[in-house]
Amino acid sequence: MSEIWQPLIANLAVVALFSSIWSLASDWLDKQRWIVRKLCIGVLVGSAAIGTMLLTVEIVPGVVYDLRTCVVAVGAFFSGPLVAVIAIVMAGTYRLLEGGAGVSLGIAHMAAAALVGLAVRASARSSLPNPLWIVFLALAMALLLLFIVFVLTRIVSLEEAGELILPGTVLSLLATLMMGLTMLAARQAGYDRSILCAALAQAPEFLYVKDVDGRFLTVNEAVARHQGYSDPAQMIGMTDFDVTDPARAQHLYEQERRIIESGTSVLDLEEEIVEKSGERRWYRTSKVPLTGKDGRIVGLAGMTVDITGVKQLERELIESRDRLSLAMSEMSDGLALFDRDGYLVFCNEQYRKAFPRSEHVRVVGAHIKDILLECARSGEQLGIPEDDIEGWAERVASLLRVPNVVTVELFNGSYLQLRNQLASNDSALVIVTDVTDLKLAERALIEANADLSRQASTDALTGLANRRVFDDALERDMARCGRAGTPLSLILLDVDRFKHYNDLHGHQAGDRCLVMVANALRASLLRPTDLAARYGGEEFAVILPDTDITGAEAVAERIRTAIAGAATSELGIEVTASLGVAEYDLAKGPSTPENLVRRADGALYSAKAAGRNRVMAAE
Ligand code: GH3
Ligand code: MG
Ligand code: MG
Repeated sequence: MSEIWQPLIANLAVVALFSSIWSLASDWLDKQRWIVRKLCIGVLVGSAAIGTMLLTVEIVPGVVYDLRTCVVAVGAFFSGPLVAVIAIVMAGTYRLLEGGAGVSLGIAHMAAAALVGLAVRASARSSLPNPLWIVFLALAMALLLLFIVFVLTRIVSLEEAGELILPGTVLSLLATLMMGLTMLAARQAGYDRSILCAALAQAPEFLYVKDVDGRFLTVNEAVARHQGYSDPAQMIGMTDFDVTDPARAQHLYEQERRIIESGTSVLDLEEEIVEKSGERRWYRTSKVPLTGKDGRIVGLAGMTVDITGVKQLERELIESRDRLSLAMSEMSDGLALFDRDGYLVFCNEQYRKAFPRSEHVRVVGAHIKDILLECARSGEQLGIPEDDIEGWAERVASLLRVPNVVTVELFNGSYLQLRNQLASNDSALVIVTDVTDLKLAERALIEANADLSRQASTDALTGLANRRVFDDALERDMARCGRAGTPLSLILLDVDRFKHYNDLHGHQAGDRCLVMVANALRASLLRPTDLAARYGGEEFAVILPDTDITGAEAVAERIRTAIAGAATSELGIEVTASLGVAEYDLAKGPSTPENLVRRADGALYSAKAAGRNRVMAAE
């Protein structure tokens, strides 16, 4: 019994030895080129296989068993077909040289082990497999051994092979697990280390570790590149005095001394530095003291980041903000920005000053509705329905984000134009312009316009309609009465001996007399449709629509009496006038304004001829 267990346990020692060598070498191996790595591992696995073959169990002369198959399987599992082939070739050659009956079976067993290793490798599909795959591999190897024993006992009828079942299975399981798990652990450690190293080495930040005297223990690629070295290793042992100007190096040296002596870190220190090239750049640095196992500070680790871009953006942002607020404080318009929910997010001074009574609530954070309510309650804005201030504020607030322009009048007589516009983020921009001057000018213009048109239609001295209006009105009224089938009458009036009046009392007194006549005329007309006009000089005309000749004669008589009466009472001078009346009635025959005027004029002439101060009607 011990003839089998002993050599197999010794086999296990060989496997352990080679596992250690492989795991120790794995760091170095990982750095080699692919083919070199495969060759080395192949030779290593092949040597391990041969090593186990030096301590074989001889079942019958020439038929041997050892743990080489486990070695080959693990080699194939971790390093692939090339390694398996190299190992099989080495071990197979050795087995051939050894000779014996089981040569071909031995080589076939190794090939089968390699295939098992490759199959499990393919299933695991990971360079860093789960440990369970190693267990699968070990179980598969044990099964393979049982299969070989089956072949030897049942087919080749080598009954002695049966003795291998227990020790062979146990030790092949152990050997596979031991070697597999050792390699997995080595690979895991190497993997973690290599990822960390790669990350640090290739990080864009400047990473460095220094000893207590300020010498670089290690730097990453970014530091080396920045200082003009192709390999970080070139900087190891240097100090800042070797890579930067003396003043800066001295400053860093003192700063780092303080860190090491006090044991406190420097965090996020921002500095502007003039580079060798003369360029100014900003850096942010953190340095932490490093303590050794015994608790003493052994150096420091530092990280420096180039933040020039960030700083530049920051500066541009501040500048543009300053420019913007300057522009807004210089502009004459008020400006306010409300967010999508109606809260004031920004406003300039002009905006607040434009509303003297609600200025105090127009502050950042205030809601538009509260601002409007204050505006209404304080009586700042005119034209707000007093019985529905709430409803009004609600309505106006809902229009905040609808582009519109309104002009409002304030209690102090000023007018503000409010323009609402949609801005980005659905916020609303309100621009307030004081349009008081504009409004006043507009009002003056409207009044001037009204004056002008009054002047164009009235006679300046008497305020009666002028000749132009008279002509238009006569034509219009004659047409209308013709259509309506009603009569229309015309009175022409001429002041008697007015030339003489002027000569006697002066031209200005003559003008006053004409004003008196006009007033008497106006007072004598009772219907709003009647129109009195100054026809020219001291001649007046009256259009009486819907009036026949009899009515017109009565009106003319009233006028004549009124003039005579007013003259004595107002002027103290006797003034009379003669009046001619003519009628137009379409039923009695067609006529024209000229014709009507001519007939009235004829009647007036007759009145003059008959001795003045009287009314005469045309035939
Ligand atoms: P008659 O009774 O025949 O009408 O005599 P009259 O002197 O009034 O004669 P006429 O109608 O021909 O004279 C018109 C005079 O009225 C001429 C002018 O001296 C005077 N007159 C006309 N227009 C004005 C005016 O606007 N102001 C003044 N002060 N006088 C006027
Ligand atoms: Mg006259
Ligand atoms: Mg006259």
